[in-house]
Amino acid sequence: MAAFRDQALCLRRFPYSESSLVVRLLTREHGRVHLLARGTYRPRSRTYALLDLFDTLELSWTRAPRRELGELVDGHIVRRRRALSSSLPAFRAGSSMLELAHLGSVPHQSDRPLFDLLERSLDRLAAPLPAPELNLVLFELGFLVVHGLAPALETCASCGGEAPPVPRSPSRAAFSAGAGGRLCAPCAAQARAAGRRVGTLPLDALEAAAALWPAATAAEAPAELESDLLVRVRDFIARFLDYHLETRPRTHQAFLATENRNAPG
Ligand SMILES: [Zn+2]
Repeated sequence: MAAFRDQALCLRRFPYSESSLVVRLLTREHGRVHLLARGTYRPRSRTYALLDLFDTLELSWTRAPRRELGELVDGHIVRRRRALSSSLPAFRAGSSMLELAHLGSVPHQSDRPLFDLLERSLDRLAAPLPAPELNLVLFELGFLVVHGLAPALETCASCGGEAPPVPRSPSRAAFSAGAGGRLCAPCAAQARAAGRRVGTLPLDALEAAAALWPAATAAEAPAELESDLLVRVRDFIARFLDYHLETRPRTHQAFLATENRNAPG
């Protein structure tokens, strides 16, 4: 049996028997960890009421070699973020962050940038401003950066040169999730020839997303976005993310059930 101690954020919880839980956590140094919390619903348990979503925890656990599931020994709450459970929009945004962190993490493989991003994003979400939807977009942009998938928003994703608006529609630029973002005309033609889907996105949404970079990658305060523009930025970032995750996360489904909000016309 090896013993571990680390900071952790609870990503998912499953009831197990009458009084226990299986939890999936993102830890600061050990990547994603799956633990059985025996008897955690018993008031006398050392881990009673410890494993809430959104809180930063400090946990000790043991795990046998070659076993996926470890066993929680004890722990305490480092930072409580109660505000996230009392506001539905904040709860939804936070749940989406946890789901994406789950999809983007690997068991026992340290991913400190993802842990730091998630913790910083939950902190921001617990504050009254900015709006939860903007916090979610910031997290998703940060998530793409952490995974080396940041979309090109201002220049061409392929050649790095300028990517001017498309001639037939001067307020839009060519964009392809598969090619990594915005494209110039020759690279767009090349991508199409290679069988990639190339569409267009409105310049205002691309520029608004680009303006969010500093806040997405550090703790800086973002500029507030007008709500229609925020919804459109959120739409294309979520679709870009789903393309690269090769799945549609459960928490994206309702938002993306609407047709592409950035479609021409
Ligand atoms: Zn190009």
